[in-house]
Amino acid sequence: MYDVVVVGAGPAGSSAARYAARRGLKVLLLDRRKEIGVPVQCGEYVARNEEVRTIFPTVDGLDDLMEAPQRVRQIDTDVIRIWSPGGRHWDIPFRGFTVARDRMDQGIADQAVEEGAELRTETTVHRVRGKDVSTNHGTVSGKVVIGSDGPRSTVARSVGLEWPVAGPAMSCTIDGDFDSGTDLFFGNLAPGGYAWIIPKGACANVGLGTWQHFKGRLDTLFHKFLDQQGLPHARGTGGYVPVEGPVPRTVKENVLLVGDAAGHVMATNGGGINVAMICGRIAGETAADHVLQGTPLEAYETRWRAAVGRPLDRGRRIKHLADRFFGNDRLLAAAMTLLGVRRMGRAIRCQPLFLGT
Ligand SMILES: Cc1cc2nc3c(=O)[nH]c(=O)nc-3n(C[C@H](O)[C@H](O)[C@H](O)COP(=O)(O)OP(=O)(O)OC[C@H]3O[C@@H](n4cnc5c(N)ncnc54)[C@H](O)[C@@H]3O)c2cc1C
Repeated sequence: MYDVVVVGAGPAGSSAARYAARRGLKVLLLDRRKEIGVPVQCGEYVARNEEVRTIFPTVDGLDDLMEAPQRVRQIDTDVIRIWSPGGRHWDIPFRGFTVARDRMDQGIADQAVEEGAELRTETTVHRVRGKDVSTNHGTVSGKVVIGSDGPRSTVARSVGLEWPVAGPAMSCTIDGDFDSGTDLFFGNLAPGGYAWIIPKGACANVGLGTWQHFKGRLDTLFHKFLDQQGLPHARGTGGYVPVEGPVPRTVKENVLLVGDAAGHVMATNGGGINVAMICGRIAGETAADHVLQGTPLEAYETRWRAAVGRPLDRGRRIKHLADRFFGNDRLLAAAMTLLGVRRMGRAIRCQPLFLGT
């Protein structure tokens, strides 16, 4: 019997395992992948701690939390360049950096192991029933089960918790010289989402995400975008991104959901790494409080909502507002002009756009 079984060793699960193990708990971290973090399905962009403090002012201990991403930092990018469908652009100051995502995920999992967690790869979880977690290698038991297995979470489905609303996205790496700005392109080229070119030094992560109702072929849109930018075609990898923020409920009996499984993503920018790690730490620490002091697990829901809930909810509302303009490039371009640099910066940070919102 483990104190905690964590399903999924992405940034959320490994952070949860790391902080639960640090408190002396017996922690098992499972992932179906052979190699943690491989294949990369990510734009590899991480917000710097200064920005995270602006967005989530009550969250502390970021230097310790973000130590592994910092270690695999590639380049700093201080401007997000937003492109309208008509080709106009605005430079929004926003401090971020790029990472080698596979090495970042491996680094966080290593930290969990250094704190005492046991990691098992190539272990796929099929079902959770109470304390029992069934896998392709037999059943293990945990007093607490943490579902950090992404937006199509097996853990959530097993216990009857909702999946977040999610849209498809894909990206690839393209060699070349790119300046240090992060480019985001909006309009019908990526309906309901955006396309990106994120600089990584001698290459860039180039990708495209769209919304949940998109019915066409994502790779067709993706290749069209590459052609439009004069970039060569390369093999992309992809997945789903929660696009409407958190699910209504993230705790059921002994199960907690965290990261993409809980919809812990900023709806206005699709960024999930920072939030997954913040909420992962809260999940791990709440599991420890539960096992060691009898704190009810419901405290997890209250704690993560207090830390990141308001900006994530606001992000969802801003995204809904933006959805009214997506689909009509002329209208979208006009709305972007109206918003201007300051309000676009606020939208990216999930801050109120207008007084009283
Ligand atoms: C194309 C794309 C680009 C993105 N770009 C960015 C970006 O630039 N910046 C950013 O901040 N966010 C980005 N995101 C979002 C970000 O990747 C996620 O929010 C983040 O990975 C969430 O972390 P997580 O630990 O919750 O989930 P994940 O990182 O998805 O980890 C889930 C883990 O669970 C494992 N797993 C799943 N099912 C099972 C099972 N049944 N049994 C065992 N293991 C299982 C998986 O193998 C995986 O390792 C992007 C997403 C996509 C799809």
